[in-house]
Amino acid sequence: MQINLSNHTKIKVKAINDQLHLTLSEMMTGNIPKKTFKKLIKKRIRISEKNIQIIKNAEDLIIKIENETNLPVKNVLIKELSIILSEYLPLTLKNKITNRKLIHITKDSGIPLMGSIYFGIIDRGTNLIQVRPLTGCLLNCPFCSVDEGKLSKTRLTDYLITVPYLVEETRKLIAYKGISDIEIHIDGQSEPTLYPHLPELIAEFKKDSRINVISIQTNGLPLNYKYIKKLEQIGLTRINLSINSLNPKKAQYLAGTSSYDIDHIKQIAKQIVSSSIDLLISPLWIPGINDEDIEEIISFTNNLKIESDFPILGIQNYLKYKFGRKISHVKMVNMKRFQEKLREWEEKFETHPLFLSKTDFGIHPAKSYPKPFRKGEKIEVEIVSLGRLPSKHENKQEMLGSAKNRVIQIMNSTAKIKNRVNVKITKTKDNIFYAREIYN
Ligand code: SF4
Repeated sequence: MQINLSNHTKIKVKAINDQLHLTLSEMMTGNIPKKTFKKLIKKRIRISEKNIQIIKNAEDLIIKIENETNLPVKNVLIKELSIILSEYLPLTLKNKITNRKLIHITKDSGIPLMGSIYFGIIDRGTNLIQVRPLTGCLLNCPFCSVDEGKLSKTRLTDYLITVPYLVEETRKLIAYKGISDIEIHIDGQSEPTLYPHLPELIAEFKKDSRINVISIQTNGLPLNYKYIKKLEQIGLTRINLSINSLNPKKAQYLAGTSSYDIDHIKQIAKQIVSSSIDLLISPLWIPGINDEDIEEIISFTNNLKIESDFPILGIQNYLKYKFGRKISHVKMVNMKRFQEKLREWEEKFETHPLFLSKTDFGIHPAKSYPKPFRKGEKIEVEIVSLGRLPSKHENKQEMLGSAKNRVIQIMNSTAKIKNRVNVKITKTKDNIFYAREIYN
């Protein structure tokens, strides 16, 4: 019997030597030693190792079984082979873009989707729900507030959540809020359009009549005409597109990579305008670095003649974050100075309002889940995953704990997966939990 596993799963083969080098859902890579795979097949399906051949045909993974009697039917074999790989591969998964270890978060992973700033669902008490399906970015912006990209010095781990789990948990939160003007905003410590299941995720949200806006944040680089058309057909409402300079060299400097092509991004902006998807251009003003560039972006945006139910230009203020990258010689400006600058630009360009508030996007307060812990509380958690951040201390790093269906981020931890540890909660804002380990 011969089975083409790639026809039944999202697994492709890069190479086979003494290991199977596999790609899953385009975004992840994983390995399994050939011998181990055969041993696991023998143990689980009772097939002699010498009767199993593992073949690469183009990118397809073929399993050929010969000289065996009493083989299970083909469908059962496919299911069993898929289970073997899905149990083994998470041990070796890597993000193809960043080359970091990748944690695949499924409903069975034991990792809740609320409580972490890195992934899952973030509810800041309004009708807007932030949905973060993955981490990892293909740019290396020198100002990145979350030190993303493959040149990152501080991010150790990436995460990718399955669509059914993410949709199920989001629906529960929407039901709890009890309103029907929800905006789902897909963003993250990532480039969200790298999520290999983005169309599927948007399509699932689109089915829910309580959701009236689905928006995404993107740097635009992975987008192309065909993909925009696809997102339009599925019913994406708005794309928030980051553009920080129209000057090719400056744009590459601000993206941290020579692969950034601002002409491509300008084309993308035009293609979005010609679709039914609304466009919000969202530049970051970095005082002293891209002042003139922001003015060119305002003119560029005005010339696009965007028709939208939302604001079309949302200039952001540059802020420095503890765990982010900083442009050392740049000084931040306070909110008052930022507002003055926006007013100056409004007058100079006789343009639409640049100083925006949540209400410009239809955002209003809406109830949130109660917080299961309060600051200062001592609780016991089970360690369910590696965190993202390293530690200055040897043999320590951030770990993620779980309790009461929340993730708790624990810095400088020595704990291992499945350990139960005592922690003291240090922060609870927006149902995002931080804690430190306590030793009795
Ligand atoms: S595009 Fe965003 S997430 Fe990616 S490196 Fe730049 S600022 Fe960071």
